[in-house]
Amino acid sequence: MRGLEDVFAAGDITNFPLKQGGLAAQQADTVAAVIAAGAGSDLAPEPFRPVLRGLLLTGGQPRYFRQEITRGLGEAATISPEPLWWPPGKIVGRYLAPFLGAVAGVEASAEQAESQAAVQVEVELEFPVRPAAIDTGGTDGRSVAELMVPALVVAPEDTLAEVSEKMRAADIGSAAVAAYGHLVGILTSRDLLRAFAGRVHPSEARAREWMTAEPIAVSVQATVEEAFLLMAERGIHHLPVVEGERPIGMLGFRQAAQARPARFGLGF
Ligand SMILES: Cc1cc2nc3c(=O)[nH]c(=O)nc-3n(C[C@H](O)[C@H](O)[C@H](O)COP(=O)(O)OP(=O)(O)OC[C@H]3O[C@@H](n4cnc5c(N)ncnc54)[C@H](O)[C@@H]3O)c2cc1C
Repeated sequence: MRGLEDVFAAGDITNFPLKQGGLAAQQADTVAAVIAAGAGSDLAPEPFRPVLRGLLLTGGQPRYFRQEITRGLGEAATISPEPLWWPPGKIVGRYLAPFLGAVAGVEASAEQAESQAAVQVEVELEFPVRPAAIDTGGTDGRSVAELMVPALVVAPEDTLAEVSEKMRAADIGSAAVAAYGHLVGILTSRDLLRAFAGRVHPSEARAREWMTAEPIAVSVQATVEEAFLLMAERGIHHLPVVEGERPIGMLGFRQAAQARPARFGLGF
């Protein structure tokens, strides 16, 4: 808060001109990241980049709206009859929406459901993340663009049968889910395995139902070192690479780890 250190505000009470629960949740995410970073976490807080999401109930098929406010309201919003987020409710928030979805009986994706039940544990990592973070020359400043593979991009309405076939043909373990050129989710072979283990019908279940929405991603300008640390920190093995909001590549944890010098003694 202006003039007061370590005091933060989020939600309708702030002077942000748009008052909406989804925006309030995004502000709270930013505040939480800033507080965590201030408390010594390695988390790099991202600036508040408001995205307004709205659901229009039409009496028939609903319409989903998405607009990045920082780009100016003059720009066309994405409008889709297919959900642009999951669960596809009118209250959108990284943690709030899956929680409300569960209360309302809307199934969240397997990845989200797992994270809700997860218990935080502290584990000594086998590889030294911190020294590498200090040594900015970890991968000699190589850009993710040099190491990524072209992203396999699928649509939210694609069936799991279609996605698995494309993943098999491309010999790749994950797909970026995009709507109107925007990255909206990630689907990995693990998600497919869970779906099939749950006996869903591959030609009926849709990518949007099993993807992890709003995935962690890096800009194509990021270095391999930054991408590696992000994946190590968040425990993920597939990192979509975006240009703006468009998925263009995918970086694997193993590839990023192998690109790091041997002096760190990584056992990958
Ligand atoms: C009719 C309606 C429909 C809406 N529909 C949507 C929607 O579909 N999707 C969406 O994203 N947003 C929607 N919104 C907006 C959304 O509800 C708000 O943006 C959101 O609740 C803001 O959250 P907040 O935590 O900032 O404030 P609030 O939810 O207002 O929480 C503030 C809390 O502080 C309490 N409080 C106030 N004064 C004091 C005090 N002196 N001491 C202690 N407690 C106090 C209040 O009682 C309240 O519980 C809707 C709003 C309305 C009114």
